[in-house]
Amino acid sequence: MSGQPSGRTNRGGRRLLPGSTIGVLGGGQLGRMLALAGRNMGFRFVTLDPTPDAPCGQVAEQIVAAYDDAEAARRLAEKADVITYEFENVDAGVAQMLMSESYVPQGSRLLHTTQHRLREKRAIEAAGVQVAPYREIASVDELREAVAAFGTPCVLKTATGGYDGKGQWVIRSVDEVPEAYATLSKAKTELVLEQFIRFEKELSVIVARSPQGETKSFPPAENIHVHNILHLSIVPVRATDEQTLKRAEQMAIQIAESLEMVGLLAVEMFLTADGELFVNELAPRPHNSGHYTMEACTTSQFEQHVRAICNLPLGPTELLTPVVMVNLLGEHIEPLMEWLPEQRGLPEGVTAKLHLYGKHEAKVKRKMGHINLLTPDVERAIRWVSESPIWKS
Ligand code: AMP
Repeated sequence: MSGQPSGRTNRGGRRLLPGSTIGVLGGGQLGRMLALAGRNMGFRFVTLDPTPDAPCGQVAEQIVAAYDDAEAARRLAEKADVITYEFENVDAGVAQMLMSESYVPQGSRLLHTTQHRLREKRAIEAAGVQVAPYREIASVDELREAVAAFGTPCVLKTATGGYDGKGQWVIRSVDEVPEAYATLSKAKTELVLEQFIRFEKELSVIVARSPQGETKSFPPAENIHVHNILHLSIVPVRATDEQTLKRAEQMAIQIAESLEMVGLLAVEMFLTADGELFVNELAPRPHNSGHYTMEACTTSQFEQHVRAICNLPLGPTELLTPVVMVNLLGEHIEPLMEWLPEQRGLPEGVTAKLHLYGKHEAKVKRKMGHINLLTPDVERAIRWVSESPIWKS
């Protein structure tokens, strides 16, 4: 789905042509895939990351330094024509310095918004989009009161620092209130209580916006998590009418426009049995649930991000084939390597496209890579994943 250019500009919208250097704060897998896509378009990359030989550093120049090292960030700025980031917890001081000394088309406002759940929820509501009912919690008494109002279960979350289900407590009975409060308030950040949404599906939509206000969204993905970590992204979303999916895309575009963001925004949502959509979270960057676009869409999310920050026309986002993206965690690498030479058992008509991120140690639960299964029908690929020895551990 594409929106019309709104005519608004964002900080001048400088155009960067191939040959320019893109600086990436963070050298993980998202930076790596961004650099691989951007290099195909003729851009150069330099990344800043504390781990030597980081996934992105293997395919770009790397400055080895801490993320909050202002002097190193200044060196990054000197080498790059434009700066972007691959994670949202960019140090506020570094973001400020880069804004004044370099060109950061994404700005720092969106980061400030998405670094804090309460600010994020208010921004989503201001865009006219629904989130799960929530309350800010400042004391154990307020929590008790809110739990009574929402009923159980409900979810207590820290406003900052949570990811992959960390910094969360599903409160199943009012008796858990003191312990939940005591545990999460240790994080020394605001707390927010959310009503529990009995969702049927978790969806995400990735939307791109250029400095000129052109927007384009990718087809929604149906996401399946295991132990709070993304396991599968299924596209097209199963058993869901076209209108609901269009609505999900429209909501993502509405948020992107309201925030006047530049680059990519991933919008995670809950879909209920009666077709209601609630936005759960935003991520102002390429997203794991968008990896399916690498082979299954005309333009990948990474190429789209490069186009957006360089103020080039956004690429078409059509789905070329149904696809199932499956993540490879540390514990999956050994069985993967056994399977890889023969690729035994892959169903007829299913093509497996493997992406590994070049991480040195295959630690349990660590994201090491993913496979995009291009398939005539998604159930065939899902069945294969559920029966494959790779994901048994
Ligand atoms: P989050 O860190 O906010 O992405 O939450 C992690 C996971 O917890 C989500 O992917 C959902 O499966 C679940 N979850 C979070 N908030 C809610 C909620 N308000 N209602 C139901 N499930 C939730």
